[in-house]
Order: sequence, then C-alpha cells, then structure tokens
Amino acid sequence: MEFCPDCKSIMVPSDGVLICRRCGKRLEMKKGDNLVSRTEQKERRMTVIEDSEAAGLPTTKYKCPECGNDTAYWWLRQLRSADESEVRFFRCTKCNFTWREYD
Ligand SMILES: [Zn+2]
Ligand SMILES: [Zn+2]
Repeated sequence: MEFCPDCKSIMVPSDGVLICRRCGKRLEMKKGDNLVSRTEQKERRMTVIEDSEAAGLPTTKYKCPECGNDTAYWWLRQLRSADESEVRFFRCTKCNFTWREYD
C-alpha cells in the first residue's frame, strides 16, 4: 500500500500514476512491484473485469478484505434469474481483489 508523502493518505492507482485522494499529489507508479507479487495467482482467477473497464467505474469507501485498502470500485450485475436482485460487486483499487456483496 502506498501512502502520500505529504499528507499520509492512501494513494490510489490511476492511469499509471498514484494519486492522493486527499491532496491530489501524483507519484509515478512502480510497475510490477508490490502490486503484482503477493497474490498474483489468486487475483488472476478472481478478476472478472479488465483493467480498462475498471478505470471508468465509480469508487466508494469500502474495506478490501484482502489488503485492508479502504477504497473500491463498484458496479452492479444482474444474476442469472430475473427475479434475483442486482448484486453489488467491489474491486479493490489497490490490489485488484474482487468480491461481491452479500446481504
Ligand atoms: Zn496527500
Ligand atoms: Zn485490496
């Protein structure tokens, strides 16, 4: 997890740079560094959308069960049967872990 050197807020990756959500500071992202290493295999399977799609998604404050990051992309997806309600999916902005909301 990267923290802003100025205000210590969590920085989120966007377009190849890390952006501080509080003060807007930008840092160059270290490609292939800690983002990819630890849970790479698992993430490959868990990921249900591509990075390019995720870029346009809204984000929300939601704690990642995998790395503890507090911001996640979210989107709605209708499940198989029409009478099932839409399910909210989340994707960590930091480690790309993807999970669905159970209610
Ligand atoms: Zn900052
Ligand atoms: Zn995470």
